[in-house]
Amino acid sequence: MSHPLIELQNVTRQYTPEIPSGVKNVSVAVRKGGVTAIIGESGSGKSTLLKLIYGLLAPDEGDLLYEGAHIKGPHEKLIPGHDAMKMVSQDFSLNIYAKAYDNIAALLPNTDVPAKQQRTLEVMELLRIDHLRNKRAVDLSGGEQQRVAIARAVITRPEVILLDEPFSQVDAILKSQLRADIKSLSAQLGITIIMVTHDPADALSMADELWILKDGRLLESGAPKQLYYHPQNSYTARLLAGSNILNQKQAASVGIDTHSAEISIRPDQVVLGDDTSSENLFTVRQQLFKGFYYELLLENSMCRLRAISLNEITVGAPVSIIINGYTEYN
Ligand code: ADP
Ligand code: MG
Repeated sequence: MSHPLIELQNVTRQYTPEIPSGVKNVSVAVRKGGVTAIIGESGSGKSTLLKLIYGLLAPDEGDLLYEGAHIKGPHEKLIPGHDAMKMVSQDFSLNIYAKAYDNIAALLPNTDVPAKQQRTLEVMELLRIDHLRNKRAVDLSGGEQQRVAIARAVITRPEVILLDEPFSQVDAILKSQLRADIKSLSAQLGITIIMVTHDPADALSMADELWILKDGRLLESGAPKQLYYHPQNSYTARLLAGSNILNQKQAASVGIDTHSAEISIRPDQVVLGDDTSSENLFTVRQQLFKGFYYELLLENSMCRLRAISLNEITVGAPVSIIINGYTEYN
């Protein structure tokens, strides 16, 4: 079997040794091609991990490999950053008074000017910003600047693009477009993409491989569907699916007899009924309109449950529930 494109071996990087910060003992591999998404709450170490992979930070312990070779840290290289990779950081690093076109074209040599022009326009079309070519970066919206920054990364045809929160400046409609565009960039150009996000919707829809980061540690990794349907940690269930986490006694109160310390139940696994003679009676405490469905907060004497319903329910009314599947944790 060929070795992975990128490999992290027990990588630790702590900013302040006294307080846990940064990342701790991360071992994981990236295969060539496709999208890897790193998801975690703010401060979980996502940007730190990306900087380590690119070579902007050196690990305190462990090693990082690219095609089996050590990735040089900032003190081992004149210009920090791996030559086969490009990183789009959260601040975009654009020349804000230059035109969008020049921001992108500047990365190509002047040896073949017609080719340079053609390549730049191609990449701008690919990212749907060709109509903005004569606007100065400073006059673009945050989302447009984000696309220019990604175009700058794409134009030199790196093997790997690292994206730190690529959707932070993009509103809902453009976001799904940019998601699709990044996905097809990876597929069309064969670029391996590693992206950081705190949004489960981004991670689930974009990633071929997903890493769950918590307090600097890699909790688990795998395909999005695997982690969504079969999480190994209740944290993963809560983060990706908004699952309800119940202890043994709470589980018993919804009719689940378990030896596990904790179980998780996704909102869509709570099925509502109108059997008021049922033992599983809950009260509807809150109902949020979400468009084509409602998000409900149900309560009994032992616990609260998040559930969904396609129909509007009366707040304060009793409902019976059936739990249609759950996951156990020890
Ligand atoms: P994320 O990108 O997931 O929000 P970061 O990787 O930026 O998280 O940061 C992880 C942790 O390390 C946070 O607790 C953060 O405060 C800390 N940290 C990040 N950069 C530095 C730094 N230069 N000096 C000290 N602590 C830092
Ligand atoms: Mg960050």
